[in-house]
Amino acid sequence: MKQLVDILRLNHHLDSSGYAALLTCDSVTEQYLHGQAQQVTQQVFGKGIFVRGLIELTNVCQNDCLYCGIRKSNSNVERYLLTTEQVLQCCRQGYELGFRTFVLQGGELPRDKAPWLIELVSSIRHHYPDCAITLSLGEWPREVYQQMREAGADRYLLRHETHNAEHYGKLHPAEMSLYNRLQCLKWLKELGYQVGTGIMVGSPRQTLNNIVEDIEFIEQFEPEMIGLGPFIPQHATPLSKYPVGSADLTTKLYSIFRLMFPCSLIPSTTALNTIHPRGRILGIIAGANVVMPNLSPAAIRPSYALYDGKVSSNAEAAEGINELETQLSSIGYHINWDRGDYKITN
Ligand code: SAH
Repeated sequence: MKQLVDILRLNHHLDSSGYAALLTCDSVTEQYLHGQAQQVTQQVFGKGIFVRGLIELTNVCQNDCLYCGIRKSNSNVERYLLTTEQVLQCCRQGYELGFRTFVLQGGELPRDKAPWLIELVSSIRHHYPDCAITLSLGEWPREVYQQMREAGADRYLLRHETHNAEHYGKLHPAEMSLYNRLQCLKWLKELGYQVGTGIMVGSPRQTLNNIVEDIEFIEQFEPEMIGLGPFIPQHATPLSKYPVGSADLTTKLYSIFRLMFPCSLIPSTTALNTIHPRGRILGIIAGANVVMPNLSPAAIRPSYALYDGKVSSNAEAAEGINELETQLSSIGYHINWDRGDYKITN
Protein backbone atom coordinates (compact mmCIF):
# COMPACT_ATOMS: atom_id res chain seq x y z
CA MET A 1 0.00 0.00 0.00
CA LYS A 2 2.83 2.41 0.80
CA GLN A 3 3.92 1.91 -2.78
CA LEU A 4 0.73 3.57 -3.98
CA VAL A 5 1.61 6.66 -1.98
CA ASP A 6 5.11 6.66 -3.48
CA ILE A 7 3.69 6.38 -6.99
CA LEU A 8 1.26 9.22 -6.35
CA ARG A 9 4.06 11.40 -5.04
CA LEU A 10 6.24 10.63 -8.02
CA ASN A 11 3.70 10.68 -10.85
CA HIS A 12 1.00 12.90 -9.30
CA HIS A 13 -1.49 10.37 -10.61
CA LEU A 14 -3.04 6.96 -9.86
CA ASP A 15 -5.70 4.98 -11.64
CA SER A 16 -9.17 4.90 -10.11
CA SER A 17 -8.55 1.67 -8.20
CA GLY A 18 -5.46 3.28 -6.66
CA TYR A 19 -7.48 6.24 -5.39
CA ALA A 20 -10.16 3.91 -4.02
CA ALA A 21 -7.50 1.88 -2.22
CA LEU A 22 -6.00 4.99 -0.60
CA LEU A 23 -9.41 6.25 0.50
CA THR A 24 -9.98 2.99 2.37
CA CYS A 25 -6.39 2.35 3.48
CA ASP A 26 -5.40 1.21 6.99
CA SER A 27 -3.99 3.57 9.59
CA VAL A 28 -0.35 2.67 8.93
CA THR A 29 -0.69 3.64 5.27
CA GLU A 30 -2.69 6.69 6.27
CA GLN A 31 0.11 7.94 8.51
CA TYR A 32 2.59 7.37 5.71
CA LEU A 33 0.30 9.22 3.27
CA HIS A 34 0.06 12.22 5.61
CA GLY A 35 3.81 12.19 6.22
CA GLN A 36 4.60 12.24 2.51
CA ALA A 37 2.06 14.98 1.86
CA GLN A 38 3.45 17.08 4.71
CA GLN A 39 6.98 16.69 3.33
CA VAL A 40 5.84 17.87 -0.10
CA THR A 41 4.01 20.86 1.42
CA GLN A 42 7.13 21.87 3.32
CA GLN A 43 9.34 21.47 0.25
CA VAL A 44 7.12 23.87 -1.69
CA PHE A 45 5.92 26.29 1.01
CA GLY A 46 8.19 25.80 4.01
CA LYS A 47 6.39 25.97 7.33
CA GLY A 48 4.30 29.05 6.57
CA ILE A 49 0.53 28.80 6.50
CA PHE A 50 -1.34 31.39 4.44
CA VAL A 51 -4.28 33.18 6.05
CA ARG A 52 -7.35 34.55 4.26
CA GLY A 53 -9.81 36.85 6.00
CA LEU A 54 -13.31 35.50 5.47
CA ILE A 55 -16.10 38.05 5.19
CA GLU A 56 -19.55 36.47 5.21
CA LEU A 57 -21.20 39.03 2.98
CA THR A 58 -24.77 37.80 3.10
CA ASN A 59 -27.02 34.93 4.07
CA VAL A 60 -29.62 36.04 1.54
CA CYS A 61 -29.83 33.20 -0.97
CA GLN A 62 -32.07 32.44 -3.89
CA ASN A 63 -30.90 28.84 -4.10
CA ASP A 64 -32.31 25.95 -2.16
CA CYS A 65 -29.44 23.47 -1.76
CA LEU A 66 -30.78 20.68 0.40
CA TYR A 67 -27.77 20.58 2.75
CA CYS A 68 -27.33 24.28 3.41
CA GLY A 69 -28.65 26.16 6.44
CA ILE A 70 -29.10 29.43 4.54
CA ARG A 71 -31.20 27.86 1.73
CA LYS A 72 -34.05 30.10 0.70
CA SER A 73 -36.77 27.92 2.17
CA ASN A 74 -35.29 27.98 5.66
CA SER A 75 -37.67 30.51 7.19
CA ASN A 76 -35.88 30.42 10.58
CA VAL A 77 -33.02 32.49 9.22
CA GLU A 78 -32.86 36.20 9.89
CA ARG A 79 -31.47 37.51 6.60
CA TYR A 80 -28.77 40.18 6.32
CA LEU A 81 -26.64 41.80 3.66
CA LEU A 82 -23.58 43.73 4.81
CA THR A 83 -23.33 47.29 3.48
CA THR A 84 -20.36 48.48 1.45
CA GLU A 85 -19.24 50.46 4.49
CA GLN A 86 -19.43 47.36 6.72
CA VAL A 87 -17.40 45.31 4.25
CA LEU A 88 -14.77 48.03 3.98
CA GLN A 89 -14.65 48.22 7.77
CA CYS A 90 -13.99 44.42 7.90
CA CYS A 91 -11.20 44.88 5.36
CA ARG A 92 -9.75 47.75 7.38
CA GLN A 93 -9.64 45.63 10.53
CA GLY A 94 -8.24 42.71 8.61
CA TYR A 95 -5.58 44.81 6.92
CA GLU A 96 -4.42 46.18 10.27
CA LEU A 97 -4.13 42.65 11.62
CA GLY A 98 -1.98 41.79 8.61
CA PHE A 99 -4.38 40.05 6.21
CA ARG A 100 -3.60 40.49 2.51
CA THR A 101 -6.42 38.35 1.10
CA PHE A 102 -10.10 39.04 1.62
CA VAL A 103 -12.65 36.37 0.78
CA LEU A 104 -16.21 37.53 0.22
CA GLN A 105 -18.51 34.58 0.68
CA GLY A 106 -22.26 34.43 0.70
CA GLY A 107 -25.52 33.11 -0.56
CA GLU A 108 -26.67 33.63 -4.09
CA LEU A 109 -27.99 37.19 -4.26
CA PRO A 110 -30.83 38.27 -6.55
CA ARG A 111 -29.48 38.99 -10.03
CA ASP A 112 -30.21 42.72 -9.78
CA LYS A 113 -27.51 42.97 -7.10
CA ALA A 114 -24.79 42.30 -9.68
CA PRO A 115 -23.95 45.99 -10.30
CA TRP A 116 -23.65 46.58 -6.55
CA LEU A 117 -21.36 43.56 -6.15
CA ILE A 118 -19.15 44.75 -8.99
CA GLU A 119 -18.99 48.22 -7.41
CA LEU A 120 -18.10 46.61 -4.07
CA VAL A 121 -15.20 44.71 -5.62
CA SER A 122 -14.03 47.98 -7.22
CA SER A 123 -14.00 49.81 -3.91
CA ILE A 124 -12.05 47.07 -2.15
CA ARG A 125 -9.58 47.05 -5.06
CA HIS A 126 -9.29 50.83 -4.84
CA HIS A 127 -8.64 50.89 -1.08
CA TYR A 128 -6.43 47.79 -0.94
CA PRO A 129 -4.39 47.64 -4.16
CA ASP A 130 -1.91 45.22 -2.57
CA CYS A 131 -4.50 42.67 -1.44
CA ALA A 132 -5.98 39.67 -3.21
CA ILE A 133 -9.76 39.60 -3.54
CA THR A 134 -11.40 36.20 -3.54
CA LEU A 135 -15.10 35.73 -4.26
CA SER A 136 -17.29 32.81 -3.25
CA LEU A 137 -20.72 34.00 -4.31
CA GLY A 138 -22.06 31.09 -6.33
CA GLU A 139 -23.27 30.93 -9.90
CA TRP A 140 -23.53 34.02 -12.13
CA PRO A 141 -23.70 34.66 -15.87
CA ARG A 142 -20.32 34.84 -17.61
CA GLU A 143 -20.64 38.62 -18.11
CA VAL A 144 -20.98 39.16 -14.37
CA TYR A 145 -17.92 37.03 -13.61
CA GLN A 146 -16.10 39.03 -16.26
CA GLN A 147 -17.13 42.38 -14.78
CA MET A 148 -16.16 41.22 -11.29
CA ARG A 149 -12.78 40.18 -12.64
CA GLU A 150 -12.33 43.53 -14.41
CA ALA A 151 -13.31 45.30 -11.18
CA GLY A 152 -10.37 43.61 -9.49
CA ALA A 153 -11.32 40.13 -8.24
CA ASP A 154 -8.40 37.68 -8.44
CA ARG A 155 -9.78 34.37 -7.26
CA TYR A 156 -13.08 32.52 -7.14
CA LEU A 157 -14.17 29.59 -4.98
CA LEU A 158 -16.97 27.45 -6.35
CA ARG A 159 -17.11 23.88 -5.12
CA HIS A 160 -18.58 21.54 -7.69
CA GLU A 161 -19.98 19.58 -4.67
CA THR A 162 -20.12 16.27 -6.60
CA HIS A 163 -19.21 15.31 -10.14
CA ASN A 164 -21.92 12.68 -10.41
CA ALA A 165 -25.11 14.11 -11.94
CA GLU A 166 -27.40 11.68 -10.12
CA HIS A 167 -25.76 12.47 -6.79
CA TYR A 168 -25.86 16.20 -7.61
CA GLY A 169 -29.63 15.82 -8.06
CA LYS A 170 -29.98 14.37 -4.57
CA LEU A 171 -28.28 17.38 -2.99
CA HIS A 172 -29.87 20.15 -5.04
CA PRO A 173 -33.32 21.23 -6.20
CA ALA A 174 -34.39 20.43 -9.75
CA GLU A 175 -33.69 23.98 -11.00
CA MET A 176 -29.97 23.60 -10.29
CA SER A 177 -27.71 21.52 -12.51
CA LEU A 178 -24.25 20.04 -12.39
CA TYR A 179 -23.90 21.15 -15.99
CA ASN A 180 -24.30 24.81 -15.06
CA ARG A 181 -21.95 24.48 -12.08
CA LEU A 182 -19.25 23.04 -14.33
CA GLN A 183 -19.93 25.66 -16.98
CA CYS A 184 -19.34 28.38 -14.37
CA LEU A 185 -16.04 26.78 -13.36
CA LYS A 186 -14.94 26.73 -16.98
CA TRP A 187 -15.82 30.40 -17.46
CA LEU A 188 -13.97 31.41 -14.31
CA LYS A 189 -10.87 29.70 -15.59
CA GLU A 190 -11.16 31.31 -19.04
CA LEU A 191 -11.49 34.72 -17.40
CA GLY A 192 -8.17 34.31 -15.66
CA TYR A 193 -9.32 33.79 -12.09
CA GLN A 194 -7.35 31.51 -9.81
CA VAL A 195 -10.11 28.98 -9.27
CA GLY A 196 -10.98 26.79 -6.32
CA THR A 197 -13.33 23.84 -6.37
CA GLY A 198 -14.09 20.89 -4.13
CA ILE A 199 -16.66 18.84 -2.29
CA MET A 200 -18.26 18.11 1.04
CA VAL A 201 -16.83 14.86 2.31
CA GLY A 202 -19.51 12.38 3.40
CA SER A 203 -22.39 14.33 1.89
CA PRO A 204 -25.69 12.41 1.95
CA ARG A 205 -25.77 9.40 -0.41
CA GLN A 206 -22.16 9.96 -1.47
CA THR A 207 -20.45 6.68 -2.38
CA LEU A 208 -16.76 5.87 -2.40
CA ASN A 209 -17.00 5.73 -6.15
CA ASN A 210 -18.44 9.28 -6.22
CA ILE A 211 -15.35 10.50 -4.37
CA VAL A 212 -13.11 8.77 -6.89
CA GLU A 213 -15.06 10.56 -9.65
CA ASP A 214 -14.50 13.85 -7.81
CA ILE A 215 -10.78 13.19 -7.54
CA GLU A 216 -10.61 12.46 -11.25
CA PHE A 217 -12.57 15.58 -12.13
CA ILE A 218 -10.31 17.76 -9.98
CA GLU A 219 -7.26 16.07 -11.50
CA GLN A 220 -8.27 17.04 -15.02
CA PHE A 221 -9.67 20.49 -14.08
CA GLU A 222 -6.41 21.49 -12.35
CA PRO A 223 -7.76 24.10 -9.92
CA GLU A 224 -5.36 26.39 -8.07
CA MET A 225 -7.29 25.88 -4.82
CA ILE A 226 -9.03 22.80 -3.46
CA GLY A 227 -11.68 23.22 -0.76
CA LEU A 228 -12.82 20.16 1.18
CA GLY A 229 -14.73 19.90 4.41
CA PRO A 230 -16.89 17.25 6.03
CA PHE A 231 -20.65 17.42 5.53
CA ILE A 232 -22.30 18.59 8.76
CA PRO A 233 -26.09 18.37 9.06
CA GLN A 234 -28.07 21.52 9.73
CA HIS A 235 -31.22 20.91 11.77
CA ALA A 236 -33.64 22.93 9.60
CA THR A 237 -32.70 21.33 6.24
CA PRO A 238 -34.17 18.28 4.48
CA LEU A 239 -30.85 16.45 5.01
CA SER A 240 -30.75 17.07 8.77
CA LYS A 241 -30.88 13.36 9.63
CA TYR A 242 -27.79 12.33 7.71
CA PRO A 243 -24.58 11.64 9.62
CA VAL A 244 -21.64 13.99 9.80
CA GLY A 245 -18.78 13.33 7.35
CA SER A 246 -15.52 11.77 8.45
CA ALA A 247 -12.50 13.81 9.55
CA ASP A 248 -10.28 10.89 8.60
CA LEU A 249 -11.51 10.77 5.04
CA THR A 250 -11.24 14.56 4.77
CA THR A 251 -7.58 14.58 5.80
CA LYS A 252 -6.80 11.63 3.51
CA LEU A 253 -8.16 13.74 0.65
CA TYR A 254 -5.98 16.72 1.68
CA SER A 255 -2.96 14.43 1.40
CA ILE A 256 -4.01 12.88 -1.91
CA PHE A 257 -4.51 16.32 -3.46
CA ARG A 258 -1.23 17.61 -2.04
CA LEU A 259 0.63 14.73 -3.71
CA MET A 260 -1.34 15.26 -6.91
CA PHE A 261 -0.82 19.06 -6.98
CA PRO A 262 2.23 20.01 -4.87
CA CYS A 263 1.77 23.77 -5.42
CA SER A 264 -1.98 23.94 -4.77
CA LEU A 265 -3.61 25.98 -2.03
CA ILE A 266 -5.57 23.69 0.27
CA PRO A 267 -7.36 25.17 3.29
CA SER A 268 -7.72 23.30 6.53
CA THR A 269 -11.40 24.15 6.72
CA THR A 270 -13.69 25.49 9.43
CA ALA A 271 -15.97 22.48 8.91
CA LEU A 272 -13.10 20.12 9.74
CA ASN A 273 -12.29 22.20 12.80
CA THR A 274 -15.97 22.13 13.80
CA ILE A 275 -16.21 18.34 13.95
CA HIS A 276 -12.81 17.69 15.54
CA PRO A 277 -11.22 19.72 18.35
CA ARG A 278 -7.83 19.53 16.64
CA GLY A 279 -9.23 19.61 13.12
CA ARG A 280 -7.25 22.58 11.89
CA ILE A 281 -3.96 21.09 13.05
CA LEU A 282 -4.79 17.64 11.66
CA GLY A 283 -5.50 19.27 8.30
CA ILE A 284 -2.11 20.99 8.29
CA ILE A 285 -0.32 17.81 9.28
CA ALA A 286 -2.03 16.15 6.31
CA GLY A 287 -0.78 18.76 3.84
CA ALA A 288 -3.17 21.74 4.01
CA ASN A 289 -1.46 25.14 3.81
CA VAL A 290 -4.21 27.75 4.21
CA VAL A 291 -6.57 28.80 7.01
CA MET A 292 -9.45 31.22 6.69
CA PRO A 293 -10.17 33.08 9.94
CA ASN A 294 -13.51 34.83 10.20
CA LEU A 295 -13.42 38.62 9.70
CA SER A 296 -17.21 39.11 9.66
CA PRO A 297 -18.81 41.47 12.17
CA ALA A 298 -19.38 39.35 15.32
CA ALA A 299 -23.10 40.23 15.40
CA ILE A 300 -23.90 38.52 12.10
CA ARG A 301 -21.79 35.38 12.53
CA PRO A 302 -24.56 33.30 14.14
CA SER A 303 -26.82 34.11 11.17
CA TYR A 304 -24.37 32.62 8.68
CA ALA A 305 -25.15 29.12 9.89
CA LEU A 306 -24.44 26.84 6.93
CA TYR A 307 -24.41 23.87 9.33
CA ASP A 308 -24.93 23.22 13.04
CA GLY A 309 -22.18 24.07 15.52
CA LYS A 310 -20.12 26.13 13.04
CA VAL A 311 -17.19 27.61 14.93
CA SER A 312 -16.41 31.28 14.39
CA SER A 313 -14.56 32.36 17.51
CA ASN A 314 -11.08 32.02 19.06
CA ALA A 315 -8.46 30.75 16.61
CA GLU A 316 -11.20 30.51 13.95
CA ALA A 317 -11.71 34.29 14.18
CA ALA A 318 -9.52 37.11 12.94
CA GLU A 319 -9.45 38.65 16.41
CA GLY A 320 -8.11 35.32 17.71
CA ILE A 321 -5.09 35.47 15.43
CA ASN A 322 -2.67 35.17 18.36
CA GLU A 323 -4.30 31.93 19.37
CA LEU A 324 -3.92 30.68 15.81
CA GLU A 325 -0.25 31.67 15.84
CA THR A 326 0.23 29.77 19.11
CA GLN A 327 -1.49 26.68 17.76
CA LEU A 328 0.63 26.74 14.63
CA SER A 329 3.84 27.23 16.56
CA SER A 330 3.01 24.19 18.73
CA ILE A 331 3.60 22.07 15.59
CA GLY A 332 6.53 24.14 14.32
CA TYR A 333 4.55 26.26 11.85
CA HIS A 334 3.84 29.99 11.57
CA ILE A 335 1.55 32.35 9.69
CA ASN A 336 2.74 33.48 6.28
CA TRP A 337 1.20 36.95 5.83
CA ASP A 338 1.87 37.18 2.07
CA ARG A 339 -1.00 37.35 -0.42
CA GLY A 340 -0.06 33.79 -1.30
CA ASP A 341 -1.00 33.67 -4.96
CA TYR A 342 -0.80 30.39 -6.79
CA LYS A 343 2.49 30.00 -8.55
CA ILE A 344 4.62 27.20 -9.79
CA THR A 345 7.53 27.39 -7.42
CA ASN A 346 9.92 24.72 -8.65
N1 SAH B 1 -23.28 30.27 -2.32
C1 SAH B 1 -21.87 29.96 -2.51
C2 SAH B 1 -21.15 29.78 -1.20
C3 SAH B 1 -21.67 28.61 -0.44
S1 SAH B 1 -21.05 28.33 1.14
C4 SAH B 1 -21.78 28.76 -3.40
O1 SAH B 1 -22.77 28.13 -3.69
O2 SAH B 1 -20.67 28.45 -3.83
C5 SAH B 1 -19.57 27.49 0.79
C6 SAH B 1 -19.59 25.97 0.91
O3 SAH B 1 -20.10 25.55 2.17
C7 SAH B 1 -20.48 25.25 -0.06
O4 SAH B 1 -19.88 25.16 -1.34
C8 SAH B 1 -20.66 23.89 0.60
O5 SAH B 1 -19.71 22.93 0.09
C9 SAH B 1 -20.37 24.19 2.07
N2 SAH B 1 -21.55 23.82 2.90
C10 SAH B 1 -22.81 24.24 2.77
N3 SAH B 1 -23.61 23.57 3.63
C11 SAH B 1 -22.83 22.70 4.31
C12 SAH B 1 -23.07 21.70 5.30
N4 SAH B 1 -24.28 21.46 5.76
N5 SAH B 1 -22.00 20.99 5.75
C13 SAH B 1 -20.76 21.23 5.29
N6 SAH B 1 -20.49 22.13 4.35
C14 SAH B 1 -21.50 22.86 3.85
